[in-house]
Amino acid sequence: MFMELISEDLEKYFPNMKIPNRCEDVCGECVQLQNSFQYIKKQKQKKQNKEQEQLQQDEQEEKDDSSQVTSATKSSKKSENETRIGNDYTSLVEDLQEKEFPEEYLWFRANDHAMKTQAQRQLVKDREREAKESKEFPHEERSYCLVRDYCQNLSLLYFGGEQPGDTYYFSPLFVYVFGIADVSKDRAQLLGYGYHEGEGAKGGNNVASLLMQGLKDLGWLIEDRCGGRLSITMGNCGGQNKNKMVLCLTTYLVEKQYFKTVKFTFSIRGHIKNVCNRLFNLLKIQYHKANVYTMDMLVEVLNKMDDIHFIHASDKYFYNYDKMLNSLYKNFRAGTIQKSHYFVNCDQPTIMISKS
Ligand SMILES: [Zn+2]
Repeated sequence: MFMELISEDLEKYFPNMKIPNRCEDVCGECVQLQNSFQYIKKQKQKKQNKEQEQLQQDEQEEKDDSSQVTSATKSSKKSENETRIGNDYTSLVEDLQEKEFPEEYLWFRANDHAMKTQAQRQLVKDREREAKESKEFPHEERSYCLVRDYCQNLSLLYFGGEQPGDTYYFSPLFVYVFGIADVSKDRAQLLGYGYHEGEGAKGGNNVASLLMQGLKDLGWLIEDRCGGRLSITMGNCGGQNKNKMVLCLTTYLVEKQYFKTVKFTFSIRGHIKNVCNRLFNLLKIQYHKANVYTMDMLVEVLNKMDDIHFIHASDKYFYNYDKMLNSLYKNFRAGTIQKSHYFVNCDQPTIMISKS
């Protein structure tokens, strides 16, 4: 209610301001389902109200005028509310209008979504447990597992040529922190790679480069030895993670015989606890407590924490994986990278299997 009031005011006073959709913070499918359930509830209520009004009109022909005015005001308010919900996610609401039993269809969709998210959560838990259980095994039999994500941007002071004075004003320089959490240890540890916006972006090449760097730094890429299984869990973000550069690493790592099996899981937002987030929160507490003006100071401050190893990833860390993988692999057909699980096995190293 409070958020709705705020968003109404923002729309009124700042018509050009773009307010991100609620589904950008939580699972989009859940928000759609929740809105659709509310839509059905309101439709039902509207139908009941109409029937009741009709009944009352039949019974009392001489109805009080003032009560009609109140009723009319109420129903116009309701339809405004319905429009807001409908405008949020029209696709599912439109779907419902075509169904003979919309409520039943919605329950089916919700049930299917809950089953999928539970199955994915269980799979991620199993991989993490297997990684812990196999940590003493030889490289060839180990089941490696890591979780990766980007932290909320940090910032440093920017000493650009346009500064009016040394101390008058400093514009912030964003620092991106790419995190890799090794979950095979009893206490997950974060390997954080930080670089400022002048050194790199947050695109597929950056993710692929730092993922490969992370695997090297963890000591999981051993020449002439083929490791067991590698499982990587990351967010379901199209531009950053779910692209050719990142996905083709599954095939590349198997073909280079670094691992027998490589599996990437794109987690459904809002349904899986991301261990990186907990470690990012610790990192942010340390960052906010300190006065940090340069990258060297940031490295020093963040490395004071037990479970965090922070590295300054300069532009030398980034390699053009796009160009390299383009020369090796075909492009994905349009609409073929919608699934949540992708894996490659050494039996058929050039075939990538995807599952929802
Ligand atoms: Zn959901």
